Amino acid sequence: MNIVIPGSVGVDGQPPTLGVTGGGQLARMFVHAAQSMGFRTLVLDPDPGSPAGRVSHVHLVSPYDDSQALAEMGSLCAAVTTEFENVPAATLRALARHVPVAPGADAVEICQYRWAEKRHFTAAAVTCAPHVFIETDEDLRSVNPSLLPGILKTARMGYDGKGQAAVTAPEHLAAAWAQVHRAPCVLEKRLPLHRELSVIVARGADDQVVHLPVQQNLHRDGILAITQVPAPDIPADLAALAVQQAGQLARSMNYVGVLCVEFFLLSDGSLVANEMAPRPHNSGHYSIDACDVSQFDLQVRAMAGLPLVAPRLHSRAVMVNLLGDLWFRGSASAPVAPDWPAVLALPGAHLHLYGKAEARPGRKMGHLTITAARAAEAREIALQACAILGLPGY
Ligand code: ADP
Ligand code: MG
Repeated sequence: MNIVIPGSVGVDGQPPTLGVTGGGQLARMFVHAAQSMGFRTLVLDPDPGSPAGRVSHVHLVSPYDDSQALAEMGSLCAAVTTEFENVPAATLRALARHVPVAPGADAVEICQYRWAEKRHFTAAAVTCAPHVFIETDEDLRSVNPSLLPGILKTARMGYDGKGQAAVTAPEHLAAAWAQVHRAPCVLEKRLPLHRELSVIVARGADDQVVHLPVQQNLHRDGILAITQVPAPDIPADLAALAVQQAGQLARSMNYVGVLCVEFFLLSDGSLVANEMAPRPHNSGHYSIDACDVSQFDLQVRAMAGLPLVAPRLHSRAVMVNLLGDLWFRGSASAPVAPDWPAVLALPGAHLHLYGKAEARPGRKMGHLTITAARAAEAREIALQACAILGLPGY
């Protein structure tokens, strides 16, 4: 892999450009990290108002399958990464003919398909929930009742709890499958979750792997609501196992870049891998404010072939996701911005808004990270922020 040197000057007299497919908030925070190291940035996103497009040196407004745009991106960039897993693998393959792409299409493709993902867990000897693949009525008829109650998840394009249907009994299977439009699915046994955890690792082309501390996540309505770090009350050996498994999953895909692995900690104390995201992750946003190297810095370093260093957590942190619902708290029918001055009066409050023009319920508008020297203090201030925003405690 090429090393892209920050501060170097290309034939056009400009610093090197790092590119990203997708222009949402993850790409925006990636662009900020790349720019702070002196890189130029290019965002490929069909939406002219995309959060990352608005802050990038170059915004190619084009569909992901436009071969001319991909060739242009390849010729302008020194390296390319991806912001979300649903960029078609074919796009990444096309780009890779022009420019180094990290993570590569093969690894992203595994994370795009829940089937391939489950197979990869099994191949890497990482425990995941008991499951079966559903593609035909025959598959549905032969479901082992021991998998119920379960969750039917579409094999592709699921996120934030979308594309899922709960199944309590065999006679409900057909209706649940109809609910997800009889798309190819994975049926998973519903497990007794004690905690939800995630681990973010970054792997370089030289096989070096570094990681962020284990995070504890709370979801509401299928969407991440709160992340606490370090995860409270998690035994050290269990945290080490999660980190080791995440690194193993990255290595066995020959992965280059930032990878997030979501885990369930079950009531019996065992660890189960849930899913992977081939990119920085919402549960790692706190690292901008609480670590000396953020997940976005790691993505820049990994794709540019620069050294990876283990991030150090210098503050305890709680991250609160800010969904569009917060703009509709009062009696006014038009959206009203929450009381940010009151939130910003709290010590250790770091407000990140993604520059999205329109607030809609369920839409990720930003996040708030509370940092403090002690976990109890971070929690207490985060609870004050939740109270100001009208959010429930945790
Ligand atoms: P998404 O791609 O939408 O994030 P997930 O597979 O992570 O989909 O599921 C979303 C949430 O649903 C999880 O964070 C967890 O709270 C719950 N969930 C998913 N699978 C299971 C399971 N097998 N048992 C219990 N809860 C689950
Ligand atoms: Mg998930």
